[in-house]
Amino acid sequence: MLRPIRIGRAKVAGCIFIPAIMQLQENVPLAPLTTFQIGGPARFLVEAKSISDVREAVVWAKSKNLPLFVLGGGSNLLVSDSGWPGLVLEIAVGGIEQRPGEHEGRTLFDVGAGESWDAFVAHAVSRNYAGIECLSGIPGSVGGTPVQNVGAYGQEVSETIDSVEVFDLRDHQVRDLCNEACGFAYRSSIFNTSERGRFIILRVTYGLTPGGKPHLAYADLRRHFEAQRKSLGLAEVREAVRQIRARKGMLIVEGDPDSRSAGSFFKNPVLSEEKHAELQALASAKGLTLPSYPALEKNHKVSAAWLVEHSGFTRGYAAGHVGISSKHTLAIINRGGATAADVLALKDQIQQRVEETWGIRLEPEPVIFGA
Ligand SMILES: Cc1cc2nc3c(=O)[nH]c(=O)nc-3n(C[C@H](O)[C@H](O)[C@H](O)COP(=O)(O)OP(=O)(O)OC[C@H]3O[C@@H](n4cnc5c(N)ncnc54)[C@H](O)[C@@H]3O)c2cc1C
Repeated sequence: MLRPIRIGRAKVAGCIFIPAIMQLQENVPLAPLTTFQIGGPARFLVEAKSISDVREAVVWAKSKNLPLFVLGGGSNLLVSDSGWPGLVLEIAVGGIEQRPGEHEGRTLFDVGAGESWDAFVAHAVSRNYAGIECLSGIPGSVGGTPVQNVGAYGQEVSETIDSVEVFDLRDHQVRDLCNEACGFAYRSSIFNTSERGRFIILRVTYGLTPGGKPHLAYADLRRHFEAQRKSLGLAEVREAVRQIRARKGMLIVEGDPDSRSAGSFFKNPVLSEEKHAELQALASAKGLTLPSYPALEKNHKVSAAWLVEHSGFTRGYAAGHVGISSKHTLAIINRGGATAADVLALKDQIQQRVEETWGIRLEPEPVIFGA
């Protein structure tokens, strides 16, 4: 139900106070706001289009003692079946602004957290700015990208983030965090680890390279262009990435049940030299070759998809309303009418089987939240 409720007071012209009105919605189904299309309702929901909307909503939730959850594009979420008992703050701060001039060879773009990530990638690529072309087709909002340091096809967003403007829930101040302060690592940052729940991301500043060459580090992408000898443009790489993603069910395509997911459900495990050697030995005892990549100096990143596949789960595996994508072993999908409990049961089954077979506990990538 949509009804205007007074949730704060705005200060204007010195000491005069006027009531501010925001659209507070009650009992809002969250499932349609997520790519999984699963989950119960939010008791309250507010869409915040500006910093003052954010501030007012936060103050109101605090005054009512309601827990707060910050929602972006809902593409990395599993919402519980009973929903959220407090306020969901949907971030809709918009705007893409290109700063004049260059900063250490890069052009800076200030982008509202509520902008669609893929729309921003399209914007940059069409103007010939390099640095995020391989991140084409990742769903969700700009504000969601620093949270788990999104990455794909050899690029991570931490390579181009210059700074992140945040609202600090501790003291209600707006601050700029430089790249180093965000503590970026593989699928992590301070926003989903040490400072989880402290900051609301309002805007992200990206530094992109004018006229830069596309990044072609990833094997899938190089294979795609094998026969082509001419130099490639950013737009061709963006298109190729989107095609590869569509083949893997990793692009949201209307009507494709394989994209009713939160993308990869498990992170690729990062193992020490010793643990990696143990796993390799176990694989070769079974006559298998373990695919892995060097990561973080002495560590190795192992393919979670391979571990799942070699623990008895195949593409297209079905368990009632849930299953595994027919295009990618790492995506748990909602086959229609699934509940969060169904997804969690399959998640537990996969984790248990992988652990029994390989001695590795897979860590879920999506944020699981709700009562
Ligand atoms: C088909 C598919 C493919 C995918 N492919 C990839 C991929 O290749 N690589 C990859 O890294 N990810 C991938 N993902 C995961 C997901 O798209 C990204 O993690 C995305 O950045 C999440 O952004 P979002 O706006 O949807 O965040 P949400 O799902 O809404 O939220 C995720 C988390 O971020 C927090 N959050 C969101 N916005 C803000 C904000 N403004 N301030 C503070 N906290 C915030 C939320 O509170 C929550 O904890 C994929 C998902 C799908 C469905």
